[in-house]
Amino acid sequence: MSRSKVVALNFGAGNSKLRKAFPCEVERSKRKTLALHVTHKKVVVRCPYQASRAELAEFVNDNRDWIERRLLEESQRYRQSLRIERNAKIFYRARELTIEFKEGRKERVLVNGDRFIIQGHKLTNARARVLVEDYLIDKASNYIVPRAKGLARYLGVDHKITEVRLRKTKTKWGHCTSTGVLQYNWLIMLAPCSIIDYMISHEVCHLVHMDHSHRFWNLVESVCPDYEHYIEWLQAHEHRFWF
Ligand SMILES: [Zn+2]
Repeated sequence: MSRSKVVALNFGAGNSKLRKAFPCEVERSKRKTLALHVTHKKVVVRCPYQASRAELAEFVNDNRDWIERRLLEESQRYRQSLRIERNAKIFYRARELTIEFKEGRKERVLVNGDRFIIQGHKLTNARARVLVEDYLIDKASNYIVPRAKGLARYLGVDHKITEVRLRKTKTKWGHCTSTGVLQYNWLIMLAPCSIIDYMISHEVCHLVHMDHSHRFWNLVESVCPDYEHYIEWLQAHEHRFWF
């Protein structure tokens, strides 16, 4: 794969005066078709090695409206991403709370009304972040691990579990391997219990069906009837949990 940077306006859009330029990166690889990938600050065009400049320009210009809409969406999502600092907003259990740093010898995190309080001695943002991480990992091990094992027992597959891991991964909420390792992203503890329970069910059901077949989703539905609603909720809000 090779990368090269070009600015989309160089492609010469017809009415480019009215439109904003956006950084556009070209990623050439063995693929056969053209595709667009939009993040909060740039557009990546994925294309075959032999794609010509004219072809790329046409492709980008044909998709300009879509690209501009996606850039806007992504920048909104980016602005909402979680920053652990004084007075920042944290989307906790579907409620927007304000982060407060509190001076105190004892280090702890507590939620009181609409305040998400992080307590410590001369707290820095970096230390506050660690405290929130520890808080969520602790909550995850007390909640997710026993519930995953309990549900597996109910479904008669507890013997298949070799380990329940808690790990912050880049994009995924959970994972289940064929060797019986259930993995959960502890950031999910920022979500409401119903959402956490859905994630728990999803991975445990993979111990029965290692795919996303109808049989798998039927099983998920049998233990978590509103799962479709929870998937939608996650898609709409999950970008606010990563820090
Ligand atoms: Zn799955």
